[in-house]
Amino acid sequence: MKYYRTAVMLLLFIGSSGAVRAQAKKISATKNAVIKFAEQRQQELINLSDEIWAHAETALKETKSSKALADYAEAKGFRVTRGVSNMPTAFVAEFGEGKPIIGIMGEYDALPGISQQTTPTKAALKPGAGGHGCGHNLFGVGSLGAAIAIKELLQQGKLKGTIRFYGTPAEEAVGGKVYMARDGLFNDLDVCLDWHPDVEIAANTQSSQAMIDFTVTFTGKAAHAAADPWNGKSALDGLELFLHGVNMLREHVRPSVRMHYVIQSGGDVPNVVPEYAKVWMWVRDSKRDGVEQVFLRVREIANGAGMMAGVESTVTVQTGDYELLVNLKGAEALQKNLEILGPIVYTAEEISFAKKIQEESEVPQTGLNGAIHPLKPTRKDPDNGSTDVGDVSWVVPEISLVVTTAPIEAPWHSWAVVACGGMSIGHKGMIYATKALAMTMVDLFEQEQLRKNIRSEFEERRAGHVLKPYIPDGPPPIPAE
Ligand SMILES: [Zn+2]
Repeated sequence: MKYYRTAVMLLLFIGSSGAVRAQAKKISATKNAVIKFAEQRQQELINLSDEIWAHAETALKETKSSKALADYAEAKGFRVTRGVSNMPTAFVAEFGEGKPIIGIMGEYDALPGISQQTTPTKAALKPGAGGHGCGHNLFGVGSLGAAIAIKELLQQGKLKGTIRFYGTPAEEAVGGKVYMARDGLFNDLDVCLDWHPDVEIAANTQSSQAMIDFTVTFTGKAAHAAADPWNGKSALDGLELFLHGVNMLREHVRPSVRMHYVIQSGGDVPNVVPEYAKVWMWVRDSKRDGVEQVFLRVREIANGAGMMAGVESTVTVQTGDYELLVNLKGAEALQKNLEILGPIVYTAEEISFAKKIQEESEVPQTGLNGAIHPLKPTRKDPDNGSTDVGDVSWVVPEISLVVTTAPIEAPWHSWAVVACGGMSIGHKGMIYATKALAMTMVDLFEQEQLRKNIRSEFEERRAGHVLKPYIPDGPPPIPAE
């Protein structure tokens, strides 16, 4: 997911060494403690992130990555429950007792086929292997670092309550959080936080798109395509008619709707009437209601296409995401901490690394955006894709952060993001996220009124809606490579 903002505001500077300078009096002792913690443990966290970067394991196969994070949490004194929601690579790590309970999520899955070295030109580390093209190696470790910083304060008696880290697998495929939210794992939280690598720093005030992920299969009857085609019923005809109908529907949906598909099966050879055909499709809109209306039309088109071709059509929902429920009170609290931390400052080498990536990616050579911008008003229609954080945001108030870990306009889910996530540009963003998230959690633990304000905004936006996720019973299917 990516968000864009403009303009600059800064109060305090973080040097390229990461050391905090000046104006310490403006920061409470507890916030100073979490900032210091992040700086002292910086190398340890970077090493863990680099380890996960090198594993580059894809959705629900993040065995080593999830183990590295869970073991690290356990070594720091957290109570760890592995394999939650029937997913071997999902886990929960908890420290402390009683209320409030503050949650923070971390991802660690990579994307297939985009292996890359830490070089500003495209060069696979291991050809054909996966790569962290969405920066989830940073995401998981940055969040866990913040959770451990809070644990230190709980242990010292400086904060009261419980910190809980959620190891959430498979964001890029089946959406592990959808299963964890369905199973009620977030229900007792007061507030939950997350962050995501990006091309800018921001407390998120934007929603995301609601989405349904489904397949349509057509089953007909095989026959010799030349000798007796009259004995065949083409599943491919059904599929083609379906897609024609979908593409005509585009004219009659709201501009906020997105529909995209890939054909996964359309027959094997031309001289056999195809008996089986399959399309995998996503429908998105700004809100779940909108998606559902479009999806009803799509179901009818599948039905009609099957009838026209004389074949069976079957629509199977695989998964889906709710739109993200924004929480402005939470975003405002996070924003104050970003303003305390100030911008990320980059070295000349980092800027030239970023510019080389931009040159290779054929985008303007504008370098990196480490600035802090004012909060932006929420757009009516998000245009930035979907996330499984959406489902979580309907059961607990969610505060989301994005932090620069790649150059401006760097193509996301690509080698460019993989390269930055394994070197200092990504590392700086991750440590910054650790600090900002830990500082905001300090506020949440210390200020009951802030928690109340966040909760009442959440209840108002949720308006009594009960989560109904688009997933079947049981664990998610493990995606093929
Ligand atoms: Zn991502």
